[in-house]
Amino acid sequence: MSSNLPPGCSHRDIEIAAGANAHCEVCWKHVDACVCPECPDCQEVGNPKCYRGFKRLRLSAAQVLARQEARIGALQERLTDEGLMLDWMAAHPDRLDDDTKHKGPLSVWLDNNPEPSDMA
Ligand SMILES: [Zn+2]
Ligand SMILES: [Zn+2]
Repeated sequence: MSSNLPPGCSHRDIEIAAGANAHCEVCWKHVDACVCPECPDCQEVGNPKCYRGFKRLRLSAAQVLARQEARIGALQERLTDEGLMLDWMAAHPDRLDDDTKHKGPLSVWLDNNPEPSDMA
């Protein structure tokens, strides 16, 4: 697997730009697959406002599970992106970053190259 995408420009960025990642803000599933129930007060579906503040609807088990699935999905996307970055680095060792003002995984300076354990 190799990629011609420049580092920092992930497939995810492209998907978001294309609107492909339109997700429900409560259950985080794609809006077409939203598992949120209709709000008994305002009949809205998947509005975070119905789950916060005074009304505070409870999340259903399906919503809690869907949010955990979304966490795993985000990590899997991250893993894919990190793998693409590795491929890019391996294909372009001459393009690693020598600029002491830049921080990032491409930096050749240890002070600027994030600790691998720092997965923020
Ligand atoms: Zn939803
Ligand atoms: Zn509501």
